[in-house]
Amino acid sequence: MNQTHFQILIAGGGNAGIGTAAQLLRQNSQLKIGIIEPSDKHYYQPAWTLVGGGDYDINATVRPQSECLPKKATHIKARVTAFKPEENTVETDNGIFTYDYLIVALGIQLDWDKVKGLKENLGKNNISSNYTFQTAPYTFEALKTLKKGQTALFTNPNTPIKCGGAPQKIMYLAADYLRKQGILKDVGVHFYSAGGVIFGVKKYADTLNKIIARYGIQTHFKHNLIEIKGDEKKAIFVNENQEKVEVDFDMIHVTPPQSAPDVIKKSALAMPDNPLGWVEVDAATLQHRRFANVFSLGDAASTPNAKTGAAIRKQAPVLVQNLLALMQNQPLLAAYNGYGSCPLITGYGKLVLAEFDYKNEPTETFFFNQAEERLSMYWLKKYALPYLYWNKILKGTA
Ligand code: FAD
Repeated sequence: MNQTHFQILIAGGGNAGIGTAAQLLRQNSQLKIGIIEPSDKHYYQPAWTLVGGGDYDINATVRPQSECLPKKATHIKARVTAFKPEENTVETDNGIFTYDYLIVALGIQLDWDKVKGLKENLGKNNISSNYTFQTAPYTFEALKTLKKGQTALFTNPNTPIKCGGAPQKIMYLAADYLRKQGILKDVGVHFYSAGGVIFGVKKYADTLNKIIARYGIQTHFKHNLIEIKGDEKKAIFVNENQEKVEVDFDMIHVTPPQSAPDVIKKSALAMPDNPLGWVEVDAATLQHRRFANVFSLGDAASTPNAKTGAAIRKQAPVLVQNLLALMQNQPLLAAYNGYGSCPLITGYGKLVLAEFDYKNEPTETFFFNQAEERLSMYWLKKYALPYLYWNKILKGTA
């Protein structure tokens, strides 16, 4: 690599990094942008829920990164190993790069190691997770083995996660699958969540509680998964009284604890005194609170919204407008309102489209009541949103 200085350096070529680069280049095609991204492949993660439910082809969720990166940006095929914001420098495993402006978009880290026994058992013993490309298909394989008298567990950890609804969406698909097989009444379906409620926005929580009752799902709140004994098929939780609770399972879907990537945590970019280590940005402007030439968006940023691709769709234009303003010494006027969306799949052909802001107030797009389950919204999730992602969001036109 000859060039080592970039006007704008973007760390991470996922949803946020590529979408933002494409939008910047649409505003000004002369910008010199470098994108640091180690992966040859680009994933459409939101479809992994449907893959786990057996209703989407895993191979349709991946494309070569070369087809996704904007042609006018320079792809730096490397992994960031250190941020040195005091020196406007990023170190990687393939050289050191400097910048005028930095955008941090490294996504979220899956902390498998925080649950004892999980990593080594994932993908076998009916222990699955929709959170990786490799294991999402195994969720459906495990689901298909369930028989009368057996037990399926679905967990939700004690950290922020990407797509807060994903731990329960797969549970509703599983329950619906069992219903179709005629065995739902005879299989125990349990939701073990470290949180205290089913969903943070009351309007949608009311619907979800009815759906839980309809499927006969049993909920166990304030239960945090800490260990899995794979061969014995036992899951161990800690409850609100700090007691260990051991539960037998025949299948378990695990949503792992998550945090900012370690490379951010150990850098000056991270929020001080926050062990999860998010990049410390202003929640409205997305500018770093201490390093004015640094911005962040997406799952790695400290903004207290639901971490979703839908949020990035609203964050990216704000970041682009503010960064271009900063480059011209203008005030940063664009503000992100915390919008996030969660397409809550509640069964095959059924979806509740939750949309809300920082205050957990619904901010709905459609004229109808989005708290009701709809086939049209399931089609939106299964067909329209993947199309939008590959053809518009990554191209900077949506
Ligand atoms: P990512 O898209 O994860 O990209 C991060 C990039 O950084 C990756 O390309 C990675 O290779 C790169 N990277 C990591 N470390 C380094 C490093 N050290 N150096 C350089 N590059 C690095 N969102 C929705 O809107 N709706 C949904 O229905 C939905 N469902 C979901 C279901 C599941 C099962 C999952 C897993 C996610 C779901 N999401 C959903 C969330 C959505 O996929 C994420 O919020 C989104 O991808 C975040 O974008 P990002 O760019 O911040 O991170």
